[in-house]
Order: sequence, then C-alpha cells, then structure tokens
Amino acid sequence: MIIQLQKDINQAKKSEIVSAIEKIKYKVTEVTTRENNYLVAVGKADFDIREIGHMPGIVDVFRVSDDYKLVSRKWKIKPTLLKLGSEITIGEGTLTLIAGPCSIEGEEQVNNTIKHLTENNIKIMRGGVYKPRSSPYSFRGMGIEGLKMWHNLAEKAGIKIISEVMQVSQIEEMHDYVDIFQVGARNTQNFNLLDELGKVDKPVLIKRGISGTIDELLYSAEYVFSAGNEQLILCERGIRTYERASRNTLDINAVPILKEKSHLPVIVDPSHAIGIRKHVPAVALASVMAGADGIMYETHKTPEKAYSDGQQSLDFEESEKLAKMAREVWALKVKFEQ
Ligand code: PEP
Ligand code: MN
Repeated sequence: MIIQLQKDINQAKKSEIVSAIEKIKYKVTEVTTRENNYLVAVGKADFDIREIGHMPGIVDVFRVSDDYKLVSRKWKIKPTLLKLGSEITIGEGTLTLIAGPCSIEGEEQVNNTIKHLTENNIKIMRGGVYKPRSSPYSFRGMGIEGLKMWHNLAEKAGIKIISEVMQVSQIEEMHDYVDIFQVGARNTQNFNLLDELGKVDKPVLIKRGISGTIDELLYSAEYVFSAGNEQLILCERGIRTYERASRNTLDINAVPILKEKSHLPVIVDPSHAIGIRKHVPAVALASVMAGADGIMYETHKTPEKAYSDGQQSLDFEESEKLAKMAREVWALKVKFEQ
C-alpha cells in the first residue's frame, strides 16, 4: 500500500498515521522525495482502506499488489515525465535520442561529436569516463578530468550529459558535471550505489542487469525511488542468453512489459544489445515501434579507431540516418495509435 501524504504534513499527524498502519501489522517505510511525501506499507492483513484513508494529512491511499510499489503503474497511471532544463522532456509522448561514444577520449572527439549532435538536433550526449571493462588491460576511461573537459564543451553547446557512475565515491565528484547519472548493467544490483543515488537531485538511468530479470530491474529502480529520488529512467540493453551470434539478446518484450508495469520512461540501448554496428539501426527502430520512449546508441567519427566498442558504434553518417528514421518511425507509430 502506498499512502501519499500532504507535502507539508506535520510530524504529529504523520506519527498518528504510522501508528494506525502499525496497528494493522503493516511494516511502514517513510519515503520523502523532492516532489512528494509517502508512506509505503507492506503487510498481509485484510483491512478496510477507509480506516486509514480518512485520516488528516493523507492525499490518497493506493493498494499495490506488486512487490515493487513506487515504480508500479498500479498506483500511478500517469507516466512520469522528466525535465532536463526548460527544453527537454523525457518520457511517454516524446522520443528521446541519446547518442555519443562509448568512452570519452579527448577534446577533439568531444567537439566533433557535439557538432554532429547539434546538426541533428540530438540534445543528450552519452559517454563514459569511468568504464567497466571485462579486461583490466582495456582502456578504463579518462576519469573526472575528462568529464570536466566534456562538460565545459557540452554546456557551451547546450548539450546535456549522461555518464556512468560506477561507485558511491564518484557521485559527489561527478554531480556538477552530469545531467543524468547512468547505472551500468554490472551495477544494477549494487544496492549501496542505488541507495546513494536516491539522495541525488538529478535523474538516474538504470540499465538492466546482464542476467537480470525485468522484475529485478524494477526492484533496482524501487531502491532509488524509496531512497528519495523519483527521477528515474529504465533501460533495456540486452541480456546474456545462450545465443552467441550477437553480443547480447535484446529483449524487445521488455519494452511493452516495462511500459505496462511501470510509469517510468523506458529507453533502449541497441548498441550493447546486438553489438554489431550494421545491425544497430534495425533493432533501434524496432525498439521505437515496440514503444520505447527513446534510444541511446553509440556513435563515433571513426568507429574503427574508437578506444572502446568501435565494433558497435555508428559513424556520423549512419547516426544521422538512424536519428532521421527513428523520428519517422516514431511519427508513424503515433499516427497508428490515434
Ligand atoms: C555503456 O553504456 O558504455 C556500458 C558500459 O553499458 P552496459 O552497462 O549496458 O554494459
Ligand atoms: Mn560501450
């Protein structure tokens, strides 16, 4: 059960409500986000919702049978829309394009990518400065100095930044230089990291774990929400299956299922999903058709020279074509749904 409280509720009223819930043997967790004030109550006893619903200080009471609650669409039917500045909205009803290199490599690369994005009206740039690499000998990112350099150039061009945070200690140093924190597939269940991102006043995109189920992704989002941050994006990026012909298996099913289960925006990363450059546009477009609220893909001026993931990075020409086609597919889909 989710009890939405008045934002300015005083402690005395809150305590009365908590006591009333504890009386029916439900366990209560207080959740205070920048936007709202909730009590999440978990228990089994059958009770008359009016016993609690009438109490002063309550906006509404929702029964939610899912084990994850705050991210569930069972209580919040309206989709969550995230604002980045005054110009960008992410969520249902819009198509968000995010593109950029796997790794930030240097000033020249950042500049040529920003130019490419600006020319194609893509407003959010991806790029890693802390890279989780399977081999310790691979390029592991430029670190915080790379992020500062990137931020400086992106800000001047009006481009927003999404970058992966790998551990709790990086949150603070990265905070002023990113617009969205990315939680990578290897960290989806790093619960300490998720808890700490709950305290942050910026959106968090959570990738699905490499072998994670859809429900596990939703639980991860629930961690961040219940720790205080409602600004969340879910990202399907392919899962590990028995199939070796592609890097991962894009679970296209996850798109409509996540959209049905949760009110949060759903973005697909086709690059890490298929891992094969020439096939990235096909699965990206399929994701848009399947109902994704956006796509995030890797692009590089010279993919063959990229420090990481060049094999799945589109060159700028291919990226331009994909951006155009994605918008057209999106428009077609909207038309079909009318
Ligand atoms: C990335 O986005 O570059 C990345 C490392 O992705 P994932 O966590 O999905 O592997
Ligand atoms: Mn990558």
